[in-house]
Amino acid sequence: MSINKLFIPFAVTSFFAFLCMNSAASAEAAHEAAHWSYFGENGPANWAKLDKANIVCSSGKKQSPIDLIEKNVNHNKSLPKIDFSYLEVPLKVLNNGHTIQVNYPKGSMVMVGDTKAELLQFHFHTPSEHAFDGKRTAMEVHFVNKKEDGSLLVVGVLMKKGKENKSLAGLFNNFPKKEGPESVVSGEKINPMNFLPKDDEYYTYQGSLTTPGCAEIVSWYVMKDKIEVSSDQIKKFKKLFPMDARPLQALNGRVVEEKD
Ligand SMILES: [Zn+2]
Repeated sequence: MSINKLFIPFAVTSFFAFLCMNSAASAEAAHEAAHWSYFGENGPANWAKLDKANIVCSSGKKQSPIDLIEKNVNHNKSLPKIDFSYLEVPLKVLNNGHTIQVNYPKGSMVMVGDTKAELLQFHFHTPSEHAFDGKRTAMEVHFVNKKEDGSLLVVGVLMKKGKENKSLAGLFNNFPKKEGPESVVSGEKINPMNFLPKDDEYYTYQGSLTTPGCAEIVSWYVMKDKIEVSSDQIKKFKKLFPMDARPLQALNGRVVEEKD
């Protein structure tokens, strides 16, 4: 066999290998370009442009988060009590590239009057997405619950800088550093009942997901009482996600009610 016969097939195969690698790389780049974020070109102002499925991020009239302005809310003493029966479960944590999330197995419920919803997952934002009288706090946790009709009931709890939150320590000490599949934290359990606020007063309004596609399928319950996390805990989250909060959205005539 001559050197030429050996060389040509090698050159041809490596050329095709190069082409494939190159097209895989540009497909990856195109995917990345369409991937939403909280900054720059792919940031909140352009979410609707990134994908047709996100159109409501711009055109929607019931978007979240919003500023909860005390003087503009309707006080309603007859609003039902919110009752949580969330279970303690072995801790599994997910870094999905946008936040830290804890997915939940079946069986953890929240009840508001006759409305029953099952906890799917909870995750965090920094700073808080909702504001009280224009002020955002260090972080916010969202408990995403699914109602029987398939729409969502999301409970937002604002988190302010203060004492270390021991009930969140096992989670905050085990954040996966990189985006990837859910990982089990051996020996650790989590129970939201231990870090939900003591006071059960809330603001409620009809809104949307705060991430693309911004679907307007959310009954929001934002607890008035805040919980505390230490500056060290906030730092742990910010190290991974320096900012993952959507800007405040227009109220567009929606009524915010307050249970007090
Ligand atoms: Zn959220």
